[in-house]
Amino acid sequence: MGCIFCGIISGDIPSQKIYETETVLAFKDIDPKAPFHAVIIPKAHIKSAMEITGENSPVIAEIFEAAAKIATDENLAGGFRLVNNCGADGGQTVDHFHIHMLAGRVLAWPPG
Ligand code: AMP
Ligand code: ZN
Repeated sequence: MGCIFCGIISGDIPSQKIYETETVLAFKDIDPKAPFHAVIIPKAHIKSAMEITGENSPVIAEIFEAAAKIATDENLAGGFRLVNNCGADGGQTVDHFHIHMLAGRVLAWPPG
């Protein structure tokens, strides 16, 4: 079975891209949980946060750098939340590492 996010990277699956570098891609979430909801992913297929190693971790830093740039581009001056769901208990449904970027309303904490 193919990976949905690898399909988005290759262009086989359509998406609303908002930010792209050689190593990172961000696009709008298809089922938004906030007025602004993007997903930021490494172009390399890293399965989950459990698969992060010293070798592949530079791209994780680039994802946070992307979030800061997106916040500026999208005028998210009120702030935002970055979330990673890992594994079944963490609520991960797509097995390609991703960071959710949520903004546009006051977000409850703890999230439940
Ligand atoms: P998670 O449940 O943390 O693994 O997050 C997966 C996210 O991917 C969910 O918020 C989905 O709405 C989103 N998603 C799934 N398929 C697509 C797609 N084709 N385009 C954009 N977002 C998607
Ligand atoms: Zn993938």
